[in-house]
Amino acid sequence: MSDFSTSEAPQKVPLASLPTPLEPLTALTRVLGGPEIWVKRDDGTGLAGGGNKARKLEYLMAEALALGADTIVTAGGIQSNHARQTAAAAARLGLRCILVLTDSVPDRSSAYHKSANLLLDRLFGADIRFLDGSADPDAAMADIAARCEAEGRCPYVIPVGGSNAVGARAYVDAAAEVLDQAAALGVRFSHVVLATGSGGTHAGLVVGFAAREVDLPVLGVSVSRKREEAIHRVRGLVEKTAAVVGSEGFSDILIDDRFVGPGYGMPTEAMAEAVRLVARTEGLLLDPVYTGKAMAGLIALIREGTFRPDDRVLFWHTGGSVALFAYDEVFASDGA
Ligand SMILES: *Cc1c(COP(=O)(O)O)cnc(C)c1O
Repeated sequence: MSDFSTSEAPQKVPLASLPTPLEPLTALTRVLGGPEIWVKRDDGTGLAGGGNKARKLEYLMAEALALGADTIVTAGGIQSNHARQTAAAAARLGLRCILVLTDSVPDRSSAYHKSANLLLDRLFGADIRFLDGSADPDAAMADIAARCEAEGRCPYVIPVGGSNAVGARAYVDAAAEVLDQAAALGVRFSHVVLATGSGGTHAGLVVGFAAREVDLPVLGVSVSRKREEAIHRVRGLVEKTAAVVGSEGFSDILIDDRFVGPGYGMPTEAMAEAVRLVARTEGLLLDPVYTGKAMAGLIALIREGTFRPDDRVLFWHTGGSVALFAYDEVFASDGA
């Protein structure tokens, strides 16, 4: 059996369309009047509508297959993009998929409870178990895995967001990918801005830039946790991921927690403004839970004068636009 703790470990099962495009957001740059803004299109990873979980799943599913798993168990909110992409990956690989979905976001519309990501989970044939918002998804997953084993099956549990060292490793590769693209285009970025949720994407990028000895600050706009807690979480993942890839010496973990609003998955005015602005200037879809709040953060930072005019900011698009259809009440009016 392969030992995934060593760096010569095996590796990825192909699930994502890579490399994803790296594009300038010329019209948005002009409208905001600040630094040059570029986007890394991980909304275009291809698996079941795209998003950052496709990269993580290449490593996670490879480990599952190497361990002989026949059932994938994971968890998330009802509108989890991670659950949707995991269900699709399991379908593609011929594995059973059990999703533990928690009803953790209050005051949602009926679309939230039946459409968008949840509709796609069903389409991919996932076995869905709903949990109360207050229940512990890790305990539920452990319980389900134990039952699977008792029935003679081989379950593989993926943590919420696919954020462990195995999943985050994919973003070490993604950091190298974007550095190569930027070098080929002759551009250098001064900052990366992204949405930070379970932290694996943020952590992988920090490790990946450090591994290439590139000093490129990664600013995570938290979509759920308070700053200290998010920093603690990302730092823990950075240490574990760095150990897996055998690199060391990484920069500070930067988190801005001012754009969460009332809570994870809860709409904010600034999110809706950001989603509309990017749609109308660039014809580009963001999402209400992650990238809309991250872009709200970037817009506020530009307005606050955080960047120098000659800075060049890379907005890492992590996907999620499927969830727009679960937030019909936010986007139904023209927002004028
Ligand atoms: C999961 C997710 C994120 C957050 O990534 P983490 O690695 O969990 O921090 C950001 N954007 C979208 C669209 C996601 O689905």
